[in-house]
Order: sequence, then C-alpha cells, then structure tokens
Amino acid sequence: MAIGGRKMKSYSAWTGLDGKAKTLVEGVERPRALNGTHVPETEVQLWTIHAATWEEASAIHFLRLGSGDYSPHGEAQPCPVCGAMFYPEGSRDCWRCERKV
Ligand SMILES: [Zn+2]
Repeated sequence: MAIGGRKMKSYSAWTGLDGKAKTLVEGVERPRALNGTHVPETEVQLWTIHAATWEEASAIHFLRLGSGDYSPHGEAQPCPVCGAMFYPEGSRDCWRCERKV
C-alpha cells in the first residue's frame, strides 16, 4: 500500500478469547513465539493498520483502544537524511524517506 509514493507497512492487533490482553505486531499473521507456537491470548484479530512506522501504528492502535495517548520510546529527532521527525530510540524508521536511520 502506498500513499503519495510512501510505502506503508501492515500491522495487526490481536486479543485473547476473553478480550483482555491486546497485542500489536508488524505484519498480518497471528504472532508466533520463537518455538513456532502461537502466542497465547492472540486467538482473535482485532484490526489491521497500515502505517509508515511502528510509532504511527501504535498511535492508531491506542486511539482504537480508547486507552489514552501513545508515548513513543525516546525523544523525536530530525532524520539525518530528510529532516522529518523520527524516533531513533524506537523503531528508527523514518516515515518520509523510508530509511532505517
Ligand atoms: Zn528521513
């Protein structure tokens, strides 16, 4: 999916049968543990999100949960390539130039 030439990534949110735990992952597949088994409490897919970065997807996820503001990890800084704000202590993904900084 692309908007204005920018390549978007897919993220998906999952919950358990009791609806309590909420998990956001990159991609649209049900999350798996390192040993290949499905992660517990991810039986039900809540929604998918198309966003440029993990921080954008997380902000949308929090809005949909109605659970307050999402706080990205670390402070935002200008991308050394294009100058857009990104989170070097978080995903390190620049939303504008698609470079992993
Ligand atoms: Zn950039």
